[in-house]
Amino acid sequence: MTARVLVVDDILANVKLLEARLSAEYFDVITAMSGPEALAICERAQCDIVLLDVMMPDMDGFEVCRRLKSSTATQHIPVVMVTALDQPSDRVRGLEAGADDFLTKPVNDLALVTRVRSLARLKMVQDELRMRAMTSFEIGIGDPRLETVSDNGLHGRVLVVDDRQSSVERIVQALHKQQRVDVETRAQEALFRAAEGDYDLAMVSLSLADFDPLRLCSQIRSLERTRGLPLLVMAEPEDDARLMRGLDIGINDYLMRPIDRNEMSARVRTQVRKKRYSDRLRDNVQQSIEMAITDALTGLHNRRYMERHLGTLVEQAILRGKPLSVLILDIDHFKAVNDTHGHDVGDEVLREFAARIRKNVRGIDLTCRLGGEEFVVIMPDTDASVASIVAERIRARVAGEPFPIQKGARAIDVTVSIGMAQCRPTDSGAEPLVKRADQALYQAKRSGRNRVVLDAA
Ligand code: GH3
Ligand code: MG
Ligand code: MG
Repeated sequence: MTARVLVVDDILANVKLLEARLSAEYFDVITAMSGPEALAICERAQCDIVLLDVMMPDMDGFEVCRRLKSSTATQHIPVVMVTALDQPSDRVRGLEAGADDFLTKPVNDLALVTRVRSLARLKMVQDELRMRAMTSFEIGIGDPRLETVSDNGLHGRVLVVDDRQSSVERIVQALHKQQRVDVETRAQEALFRAAEGDYDLAMVSLSLADFDPLRLCSQIRSLERTRGLPLLVMAEPEDDARLMRGLDIGINDYLMRPIDRNEMSARVRTQVRKKRYSDRLRDNVQQSIEMAITDALTGLHNRRYMERHLGTLVEQAILRGKPLSVLILDIDHFKAVNDTHGHDVGDEVLREFAARIRKNVRGIDLTCRLGGEEFVVIMPDTDASVASIVAERIRARVAGEPFPIQKGARAIDVTVSIGMAQCRPTDSGAEPLVKRADQALYQAKRSGRNRVVLDAA
């Protein structure tokens, strides 16, 4: 992984210094000596991370950062502010301008490399998710870029893992107005709570009395449920070596004791903001996956999903010698519904039809809309005698009660024809099975509709 880092400073010596250190770690470095120059480079998407000096003539670092973070084209680029050590208020101003992190001058090598590396890693993951989210945006799911600009990182759920009473009190005191803080003094218990608790951040003390805090961090990193939980550790100045190991394990950030309240509150907000951003992206990707396999009108699975899944089910049934039944259902004279009452009423009928099928099958049965007014029900572990009872029940529930239309203002009679087939040991894949059910359906239509026919061949 070689991220491209943009170093921005109005003093050439500073630019050269940071460039040399980062190049030595194999980062790809580009430089700018003014705010406007930096903005132009970012607009052209030519860098992955920005190291931004605060003190610059004309446009200072805060302003540059604010502009980067308020434009949808650049707001996802991590910004590290480089501030003077004797100006602690600068850190807070920087983070309030939207900076993701900061370093103090003179820049400590360890801090420089670890923070840049961890931001580069995060950026790569987020770039990938963002690309997928943009694809779903293009096919009609909300725009994930817009929401983040306004997230202030407040009211996140934070789990503090620390066994020193005085330290806990100070942390809670500093954070409780901004975050929802839970405290856990036992490391093992903390792991369970992290897995159960839907947290946005875990803050772990590196000085727990009877458990190795790094072990806890690595457990949190390796559990499926907590893998994405940001970790902020609280270290003593002499903890440098363990801190390095922590960064290898994948902790996201650290605070040195004695902890500066403003710095803590700012770093916590940054982590909460990042967590929410990646959660949103992930939800978005999940949503687009669901959309790809769901029929929008009825909420049932669609043909694409059915074709995929039925193949697997047939294989499993044959392998285990278990029965598998398939119904294909087609509404009778549906075209006439559209022609007489309009397309919207046709859609109402399709939705109600889907609901009636769903009510009459088990949870493990798979109901899909193949397209138009054609549906399929796949019933694992179900032989012909049971399947025909189910099919007959569906037929009766459709024909037995008129379908409400125009939001219940009226009702019309609807009937359905159903073809049924069983999986055979000689079937290879789903196709022959579906074909037999289709032929049975055709027979049901030919012999008068509103009936169930079992594949006879
Ligand atoms: P049969 O009893 O032989 O099945 O006759 P049918 O009229 O039901 O069958 P046909 O295949 O001739 O017509 C199906 C109709 O379904 C034609 C099409 O306009 C309508 N249709 C397909 N998809 C939709 C949809 O999403 N919404 C609505 N309202 N109608 C649809
Ligand atoms: Mg039909
Ligand atoms: Mg049809």
